[in-house]
Amino acid sequence: MNFDVIVIGGGPGGSTTASLLAGTYDKKVLLLEKEQFPRDKPCGDAISGKSMSVLAELGIKTNVENINPLKTHGVILSSPNGTVLDIPFKSKDPNRHSYGYVCKRFIYDNLLFQHARSIKNITTIEKFQASSLIFDGMQVVGVKGKDLSSNKEQEFYAKVIVGADGANGFVANKLGVGGLNEQHSVVAVRAYYDGVKDMKPAIEIHFVDSLIPGYFWIFPISETEANVGVGMITADMKKRRVNLQKAMFDIIANNALIAPRFKNAKMSSEIKGWNLPLGSKIRKCAGNGYVLVGDSASLIDPFSGEGIGNAMYSARLAARIINKAFEAGDFSESVLSEYERTLRAELSYELDISYKLQKLGQNKLLLNWVVGKAARSDHVRETLSGMLANTTAKKGLVNPLFYLKLLFA
Ligand SMILES: Cc1cc2nc3c(=O)[nH]c(=O)nc-3n(C[C@H](O)[C@H](O)[C@H](O)COP(=O)(O)OP(=O)(O)OC[C@H]3O[C@@H](n4cnc5c(N)ncnc54)[C@H](O)[C@@H]3O)c2cc1C
Repeated sequence: MNFDVIVIGGGPGGSTTASLLAGTYDKKVLLLEKEQFPRDKPCGDAISGKSMSVLAELGIKTNVENINPLKTHGVILSSPNGTVLDIPFKSKDPNRHSYGYVCKRFIYDNLLFQHARSIKNITTIEKFQASSLIFDGMQVVGVKGKDLSSNKEQEFYAKVIVGADGANGFVANKLGVGGLNEQHSVVAVRAYYDGVKDMKPAIEIHFVDSLIPGYFWIFPISETEANVGVGMITADMKKRRVNLQKAMFDIIANNALIAPRFKNAKMSSEIKGWNLPLGSKIRKCAGNGYVLVGDSASLIDPFSGEGIGNAMYSARLAARIINKAFEAGDFSESVLSEYERTLRAELSYELDISYKLQKLGQNKLLLNWVVGKAARSDHVRETLSGMLANTTAKKGLVNPLFYLKLLFA
């Protein structure tokens, strides 16, 4: 069977790429997904402002608002010595949003996938596990895999194949660019809890002493339900032999700041873990007949762990460049590599700053000092709030001058 484009994986990256290619650029698309939607994806469920403009371009921002996700207006940070800081999201730039959502991926991803499925040029096959790529010389021209419902092997052909199969996906591996670099990936686990006390409409990031250089999070889903988890750089976790599940339960049971809030809370799901490939090491993500988007391209923010925004952002760019390849009638690396060049030009700056922030965040003394200063001073808090909201201003956070000025603030 022949298509213009085959997209492998129906997460935010894959569903967005497929929807834009078919809806905006009128391409005949096949979207393959190994699970059946709605499906769960281990995640913190925090959806930042970056996804909003892509949702608007897809025409489904209102649909997302209609499912009533929790709207977050800030971030609550705590330092290893237990000082708590409440920072509102603040943006002077009218094009940026000063709020985010927290929404279970079971619901959010299903909305994106069903939207893709409703577009007439898209064929979707769920419970289809793609397992290998078909090459014609150096050019990727198709996909092989198994329909898990009928147990039948099938082959599909297209001009361009999009790898959107996530952190441990096979596409990047088959192309020789996959594999998780332990210094540039995180392992994280999460569970849902009912009955967590004192939550505000803000995401909470706690730099708990026992877990540095990782962090513990509480992201509220409703007034009482929360997505709770911990994450750590893979290399550090292995070096220190940290058992993340145990670390999470230990914080919930014993941490002076956290434990009282979980006294009457109950875990309402399994605890699940997964890998986060960080954008401090973007992969080669375009070549002859293929592009990679989202986690498949390793685009997660190295400081915050946020990957949904960049998955959707890269999907939008991929759709635009793939359309250009159709206009040129050329699906070779020489045309598709514009995707990788533009992606690097647009994202490298912020990913680099986030990587530096990730390194700074491993310094307990510095964290205690900065959070302490900001907790005591409205001015410092205001400055931090503005800096976190804007990539250019965020650069100030990795400038030693900022810390020198802070000495006198
Ligand atoms: C514990 C944890 C917490 C996180 N918290 C946040 C957060 O709060 N906010 C945030 O923005 N990001 C967070 N992330 C990162 C975020 O989950 C990812 O960046 C995001 O899911 C990337 O989207 P994607 O579409 O690239 O991949 P995915 O969402 O992983 O989608 C890939 C899809 O491909 C399918 N697939 C895989 N293999 C095949 C195959 N062989 N054939 C067919 N289909 C296949 C999968 O079933 C899946 O549906 C977190 C990650 C983890 C692990």
